[in-house]
Amino acid sequence: ADERLSEEEILADPVAKIAAVGGTRHPSIPLPVELFAPQRANSMGIDLADPAILSATATAVNRPLTAAAPAPVGDVAAAIGRAHAFFPTWQATPLDTRAACLDRLADLLERDRDHLMAICVQEAFKTIPDAIGEVREAADFCRYYAAEARARLRPVELPGPTGERNTLHIDGRGVWATIAPWNFPLAIFLGQTVAALVTGNTVVAKPAPQTPRIAAAAVALAYEAGVPRDALVLVPGGPEVGAALTGDARVQGVAFTGSTATAKRIARTLLEDEARPIVPLIAETGGINAMIVDSTALPEQVVADVVTSAYRSAGQRCSALRLLLVQEDIADSLIEMLAGAMDLLTIGAPGDPTTDVGPVIDRAAYDKLMAYREEVRPRWIKTVPVPAEGLFVPPTLIRLNAIEALDREWFGPLLHVATWRAGELEKTIARVNAKGYGLTMGLHSRIARAAEVTEAAAAVGNLYINRSMIGAVVGSQPFGGEGLSGTGPKAGGPHYLYRFCAERAVSVDT
Ligand code: GLU
Repeated sequence: ADERLSEEEILADPVAKIAAVGGTRHPSIPLPVELFAPQRANSMGIDLADPAILSATATAVNRPLTAAAPAPVGDVAAAIGRAHAFFPTWQATPLDTRAACLDRLADLLERDRDHLMAICVQEAFKTIPDAIGEVREAADFCRYYAAEARARLRPVELPGPTGERNTLHIDGRGVWATIAPWNFPLAIFLGQTVAALVTGNTVVAKPAPQTPRIAAAAVALAYEAGVPRDALVLVPGGPEVGAALTGDARVQGVAFTGSTATAKRIARTLLEDEARPIVPLIAETGGINAMIVDSTALPEQVVADVVTSAYRSAGQRCSALRLLLVQEDIADSLIEMLAGAMDLLTIGAPGDPTTDVGPVIDRAAYDKLMAYREEVRPRWIKTVPVPAEGLFVPPTLIRLNAIEALDREWFGPLLHVATWRAGELEKTIARVNAKGYGLTMGLHSRIARAAEVTEAAAAVGNLYINRSMIGAVVGSQPFGGEGLSGTGPKAGGPHYLYRFCAERAVSVDT
């Protein structure tokens, strides 16, 4: 195993050299500890009343954040060179050794949970429950892919009816570029990366420009877990670094989570050079995710699930609900209940354990969301007040006159609502499908036939019936979409690792 490196050392890596620049990205907000809500349990069994957690996150929120400048584009080639040269060694490393690194990494993520949560709060403005979920999901990805690798990547003996011995080998392909989003800067950053590593690939990993520190912390732990430094190289930066990475012919695969437009740009880049091998692109992008509610749904449950799906994480999840479609007979009363529930949302500092909705990721996102929200002011049904200081986009409910009128994803706490007529369930689903996205869809109904119809007709990767639409669980709800929402591989699912592999059939005449 390599020696333990600090995040600073990783950020100062000769390849991924990023100059530290000072400055806060968000005004510091004092943590109102007394507002703490101890009943909020969570999957990691963290006691949110623990003063250590409160003070860690309070410090994180109040500490000036050190931003990071991107790796010089010229160094990206050197990073790829390192990973490329090391590929044969890593590929030859036994599968069990590679998988053991992932298990150890999961343990280390849990060991450093509070520290990682604090960076998630500080750098990505995660709420405490979201920060907990982030560490939990990252550890889950590591353990799940380790187990799946052991179960699925061994050579398979195939029938040899003519007396040959036929073996199918499942190996890595070479260098993978993993390009991560800021909204899951630990879980998705690591999920993509460890999937590529455990299958025998080496990785050059680019975090989102907003969240290099979380990535650096994750990479430090990966090294401590035994991943060699040349098997995983971090290149922080923005689109230029991404372009240098995906444009390099030595890159044998790209795993990307982010916008549809960027995914298409990457696809074009990969095909540009006639001489370059054709390589796989795993893309998970956005969606215009709808939830359909009929008159048999339980209103209290619908309202709770809508609030969770549309406004939690400030709507900054690919899976988040963007378009609520209510059967017209119940629309007025349901919307009234929903508006009442919105009044109960606590909007505040990310590190405050009582916060339901924190700020959005940066000024650019804030400006874009606020400009759109202003544009549709005549159609506001409900909005709620937010703190004056900070990048808080008020959770807003917006009336939509036709399903077709919403033609893009607004990545924030803005929910649109339209109605549909009894008897038109299939037609309504078809209208949603026609948008061309296909990530998540929700249905609330007590009619078994409605569930069957929706299951058959919804062109989405993840369909949620009578529950919220966010928070896919590794190993239980493999996550990923189709159409404009992605190329289809399901993160946290049993077939994901194969997408990172090359298969070779060897036939020996015996
Ligand atoms: N897997 C997350 C969820 O189910 C969403 C991932 C994303 O936003 O990219 O909520």
